[in-house]
Formats: sequence, C-alpha cells, structure tokens
Amino acid sequence: MINFGSGPAAIPLAVKQKIQESILVHQDTGLSILELPHRGEVIQNIITKAGQLVRELLELPDDYHVLWMPGGGRLQFHMLPLNFLNPTQQAGYVISGHWAQQAYLEGVREGKTQILATSEAINFAALPYWSVQTTDKNKIENLSYIHYCSNNTLYGTQFQQFTKIPGVPLVVDMSSDLFTRDLDFTQFDMIYAVAQKNLGAAGVTLVIIKDDFLERAQSHMPDILSYKSFARSNSTVNTPPVFSIFASLCMLEWIREQSTKALYQKNSEKAQLLYSYLETSQIFELIASKGSRSDTNVCFRLVSRSLHETDEVIAFAAAHGITGIKGHRFIGGFRVALYNAITKDDVEKLIAVLSLYETEKS
Ligand code: PMP
Repeated sequence: MINFGSGPAAIPLAVKQKIQESILVHQDTGLSILELPHRGEVIQNIITKAGQLVRELLELPDDYHVLWMPGGGRLQFHMLPLNFLNPTQQAGYVISGHWAQQAYLEGVREGKTQILATSEAINFAALPYWSVQTTDKNKIENLSYIHYCSNNTLYGTQFQQFTKIPGVPLVVDMSSDLFTRDLDFTQFDMIYAVAQKNLGAAGVTLVIIKDDFLERAQSHMPDILSYKSFARSNSTVNTPPVFSIFASLCMLEWIREQSTKALYQKNSEKAQLLYSYLETSQIFELIASKGSRSDTNVCFRLVSRSLHETDEVIAFAAAHGITGIKGHRFIGGFRVALYNAITKDDVEKLIAVLSLYETEKS
C-alpha cells in the first residue's frame, strides 16, 4: 500500500528496517532500544545526536536549543502562552486554519491575545495576510510573540513568507512541513513540529528554541511544563519517549543521506505533478486558492461534492493499492500528503489511479 495519510504518515523502508533491528537488539548493547535506561549513555547520546542533526539540517547556529517533548502539538499550543504570555503583554496569532485556531484558543485561556489576520470567513481556502502598516496599532503593541502555522494540513495551504515585527519573537508550528522545504529558519525564535508526519513516530514533538527567547520564559512553573527545564535536562525531565526520539534520529539520518537539497527539489516536483493533473481534471477541483497552495498537503474534492462518490473514489484507490487520501473530517473530500517518504513514482501511481477512475466515470 502507498500511504498518503497526513499523519501518522509513510516512513521510508530503510528507516523501518533500522528501527526493527534496534527493537530486537540496539547496536552492541545486547538490549532492545525499548529496554535501555533513559539516563544511560546510549539514550542520552541518541537525544544529543538527534539535536545536533536537527541543527545541522536546518543550518541553525548554536544558540538554538533542540528539545524533545511529549504531549503532541496540542501541548505546545498551551505551553507557549503558559511560558511566554506575560500578564503585562499580549500575543498575536495569525489564524490560517483549524490548528492555528486551536493554538489561539489556548492563548486566550492564558492571557490577552490578538488576531492579527484570519481567513475563517472563506473557510481557510486562502492564507490570511497582514502588514504592520495596515494593522491597528493597539493590536501589535507590546507583543510577547507572534504565532503562525506554516502549513495548514486540512486545507492544503502553506505560507512562503511570515510578517515580522522587529524585536517581537516569531513562533511557528511547522508540524506538517519541517524538513520538506528550504526556509531561512533563523527568522524564527521557536519552531515546533510533531513527529508523526515527517519525523517518524507519534509520541514526541520537536521544539527548537532560540536562547534569548528561552531566557524570557517563566521560571516558576511545573518542571514538566517548562521549556527551561527541558533545555536544562537534555529533554529528560521525566522518562522521555525514547522510542519516538530514536525513530526521529533514524529519520534525520535518512534525510541527511538523501540530502535536504535533493529531497526539497523532489518535493516541489511531486507537488507540481499532482497539481497539474488536478487543475485539468473534469471531476476533481482543488480546495485551496492559487497563490496559497501547499507543496506538502494537496487537498481537493469532487466537483459534484457527492459524499457517496467520495467514498467510492477512496474505495477505488484502496483497491489499487492507495490509502490515506480521505480528507479531514471537518473538510471532507481528499487530502494527499507528499511528505519525504513519498516518491515521485508514488505520485505518478496516484495520478494514474485517479485518471483511471475519471475515465471509467465519463
Ligand atoms: N499542528 C498541525 C499543523 C497539525 O497538522 C496537527 C495535527 N496532527 C497538530 C498541530 C496537532 O498535533 P497533535 O495531534 O499531536 O496534537
């Protein structure tokens, strides 16, 4: 089966084999990766090495901390304001979809927040943009941070640029597109990404945080909810999700072997192939507007919007070895994730199957 699911998502065979080996016996330890003590040298080295690889692949300087945290994306939505939304300040949110909105709602729980832009009125089919010059002054005064979600998995939209205010930290949820494309990552003060999309197994979230931003985090809070505690303890505040961190390390090593440059080039070719087909299809239409479209998640639906026929397409695809294309339950239609483990051949196979369905229908 080719898995186009948006997370948990496809993992390259070589990575799965490497993980399989270590589940039996990890290197020369005589123990499974699942049995090794988390404060022992082997696991501590895995955590450190994974962090070094993250910095290397994203070309980040040494003043970025790499943390591995439990609790998924949703915990980050809450930890961010908990740690950084100072009572005398406010936080700015750009609402480009469901996940950005969930992050905002957790901000609202913790303090004063401002919506800097939203495209909710058009059901997030295009990205919301804003500029410092045209935004109400009181909305952008005294901000603790600005939060973006770079790739909106549900609708297939993706930011290429992020509006910045000098001196205001920029925080980005890159759960679905970190390690899929090139950006200047030093523009961000904090990046977070759940692992189950491009980075291995669910259960861990990668958090990258710049030293001077981390300095501003609240110090008096439970250790398990404190970025500072995670930075101080090499992500070992409690027993870390060792297996998921190891799976992330295997993915990172695979990404380095492939080279980010080659992967990113392939990713844009994969997206172009699929968009070209969908733009000319007679029965499918794209959900995201041109100019906002993502190279990482492609969302589309039947022109007829028939739910029955949508299920028929999903069953037809499954009968031809393709799974994971069902759209998110809030949006319907179809959603195809083109993460790193998906090859150009996989995309060509998908296009062939969708075309075959289309021909049989007409
Ligand atoms: N952010 C984005 C961009 C997502 O696509 C998702 C969904 N996996 C989340 C956050 C939420 O992640 P989790 O289910 O780990 O809380």
